[in-house]
Amino acid sequence: MKRSVSIIGGGPSALILASFLDPDLFTVTIYEKSKSIGRKFLVAGKGGFNLTHSEPIEDMIEKYSPIGFLDDSLLQFSNSDLRNWLDELNISTFVGSSKRVYPEKGIKPIEVLNAIMKQLKQKTVEICTKYEWIGWDSQGGLEFNNQVIIDTDFVVFALGGSSWKVTGSDGKWLDNFKKHGVEVVDFRPSNCAFEINWPTNFINKFKGEPLKNIGLTCGNRYQKGELVITQFGLEGNAIYALSPQIREQLNQDGRANVYLDLKPIFSEEEVFQKLNQSTKMSISDKLRKSLNLNPAQQAILKLYTSKEEYINPLRLAKTIKNLRIELIGISELDRAISSVGGVPIASVTDQFELNALPNHFCIGEMLDWDAPTGGYLLQACFSMGVKLASHLNLS
Ligand SMILES: Cc1cc2nc3c(=O)[nH]c(=O)nc-3n(C[C@H](O)[C@H](O)[C@H](O)COP(=O)(O)OP(=O)(O)OC[C@H]3O[C@@H](n4cnc5c(N)ncnc54)[C@H](O)[C@@H]3O)c2cc1C
Repeated sequence: MKRSVSIIGGGPSALILASFLDPDLFTVTIYEKSKSIGRKFLVAGKGGFNLTHSEPIEDMIEKYSPIGFLDDSLLQFSNSDLRNWLDELNISTFVGSSKRVYPEKGIKPIEVLNAIMKQLKQKTVEICTKYEWIGWDSQGGLEFNNQVIIDTDFVVFALGGSSWKVTGSDGKWLDNFKKHGVEVVDFRPSNCAFEINWPTNFINKFKGEPLKNIGLTCGNRYQKGELVITQFGLEGNAIYALSPQIREQLNQDGRANVYLDLKPIFSEEEVFQKLNQSTKMSISDKLRKSLNLNPAQQAILKLYTSKEEYINPLRLAKTIKNLRIELIGISELDRAISSVGGVPIASVTDQFELNALPNHFCIGEMLDWDAPTGGYLLQACFSMGVKLASHLNLS
């Protein structure tokens, strides 16, 4: 007789799990509280829609924390495997100049979702929308808001993190777990904006301006990329990637320091040589013409240097390569691209089974791991889904 798997939450980790479960062994049902599934996946599609990253899997693995937690999942279902799977669904992908992987031009996010849905239909996966899981009843059955109680062989929670509540990923499930005595940690924002006390005149002039091809360091982590100046502070892939290090400093001291390299392609010595050329050019002209710094980059430099420093090529070169910016806060959770917190990694086995509740599993962003944007988040969710499917298929 077939056994039943109830998957709660209808995001990418749930969908791929359902797709990889053997329909000869299991009846599979997805319970999703919203009117439709995959809403955060579609939101991701409105932005860059990085399905994964194309770097070698050994390098990719290093981007995740805690170290080691996702290695098996990523090796079992790598970025190439993901692209092959999408190919089988008639979703071809391409590698952009940033090495991120996107659906082929012209393929809309909804088409990617529909292709996955089509496969789930072929595999007779049942999808129940408007089913909000609200906890366990006294017998340990799963209880939904519409009075339905479900008894099942295997429960897989794929409830997501807690940002962009509008997509359904509101993290309310944390209380259900707490009430049932399952250990959880509060959510915190990741891949998010950080607050800076910018002067008003600077903001008025430069908000929305990008700082391209920069390097940013926090603690022992360095990231090349782009930043955007906002009213709140700084956003962009370079600062998103440093979220764990910045969060740690903010937690400890209420303040964090990041160090901006405005010219990563040149050494400090080379920057100095360019500033020290004996031409009649003003410093501003040298910054613009010899170092190719745009007005926003020049304005940041001025903001953080004294007059004496600005006219001293040696000191200015140092600052261009290592400009300290103080961060005083973090974005609100709901605006973050992802969240950390939820179910601690130590609370699940290598197969994502809750230590406290046999036959209950957790996958996806609801577990307490972290990764930068750029395809790493979705890849992890997909890889966890496939790893769990393989485990259940063999159970
Ligand atoms: C703006 C934005 C852009 C992004 N861009 C990218 C990107 O380009 N590349 C990338 O890799 N990642 C990106 N991400 C992150 C990525 O979308 C998420 O990491 C991923 O969707 C998490 O998948 P999941 O399956 O764990 O959970 P989710 O996709 O969050 O799905 C969880 C589901 O569970 C449902 N649910 C919650 N509680 C209950 C309940 N009690 N009962 C029933 N159902 C419930 C929710 O409604 C939701 O549908 C982006 C995120 C955002 C917000």
